[in-house]
Amino acid sequence: MSKAEQYLFPIADQPSVPVLGQHRLYPVSRIFCVGRNYAEHAKEMGVEVDREAPFYFLKPATAIVPTGSTIPYPPGTTNYHYEMELVVAIGASGFKVSRQEAPSLVYAYGAGLDMTRRDLQLEARSKGRPWDLGKAFEQSAVVATMTRAADVPSLDGRRIQLRVNREVKQSAVLDDLVWKIDELISHLSRYYHLVPGDLIFTGTPAGVGPVVAGDIIEGTIDGLEPVRLTLRPAE
Ligand code: MN
Repeated sequence: MSKAEQYLFPIADQPSVPVLGQHRLYPVSRIFCVGRNYAEHAKEMGVEVDREAPFYFLKPATAIVPTGSTIPYPPGTTNYHYEMELVVAIGASGFKVSRQEAPSLVYAYGAGLDMTRRDLQLEARSKGRPWDLGKAFEQSAVVATMTRAADVPSLDGRRIQLRVNREVKQSAVLDDLVWKIDELISHLSRYYHLVPGDLIFTGTPAGVGPVVAGDIIEGTIDGLEPVRLTLRPAE
C-alpha cells in the first residue's frame, strides 16, 4: 500500500523552515514558546517574570509561515500584535539534559515572529483560561531562514530588533533573556523528550504593539537572516 493509500484524506505538506546553505529543509514538529522572558516586556504586560521557572505555551506546526509571506489580518481580533523572538531549532534528542549538555542539542538559530491576538490572549489570561485562541492560531509563527549553530560562534551581545514600516518598535540584546537558551532546553527536557523538529520561541523583548493591513513587519537579529511579514486586509 502506498503512503497516500494508507490515509482517508490527502496528507498535508510537512511544515518546514529553510536553513542557510542547506538544500534540505528543517521539518517542524512542535513549537514551544516561552512566556515573559525579558523583564521589560513582562513589565509592559503588567506582570512580573516568574524567577522560579519559565512557562510555555505551544503552537501547532501548521502555524508556520515562511518569511516573506503576505498574509491576511487574522479573524476574531481587533488587536493583532507582533512579537519578535530568537528561535532555537533542536537537532538531537535529549531527555533530562543538564545545562552543560543542552548546547549539543541545538541545530540552528533563527529570527521568528510570535504573532498574537492580544485581545484574546489577555481575555483568556484574566479568566484563567488557556491562551490558544490568542496564540495558537493559523499563520501565527513566522520563521526566517535559519543559521546552523555550528556557524554561530556566540549570541552574546547580539541585538534583536523589530521594525514596522521601517520604524523601530522593539530593540534589545539577547543577553537580556531572563532564562538563557541552555536553561530553557534543560528545563523543557525535564517535561518532554526533545527531538529534532522541536522549535523553541524564546520570548519577546519590550515594545510589542498592534499592526494593521498594509503593514510590513521586519525582524532582525545580528548575524542571522531577517524575518519579514506583510499584512493584507482580513478575508
Ligand atoms: Mn512570544
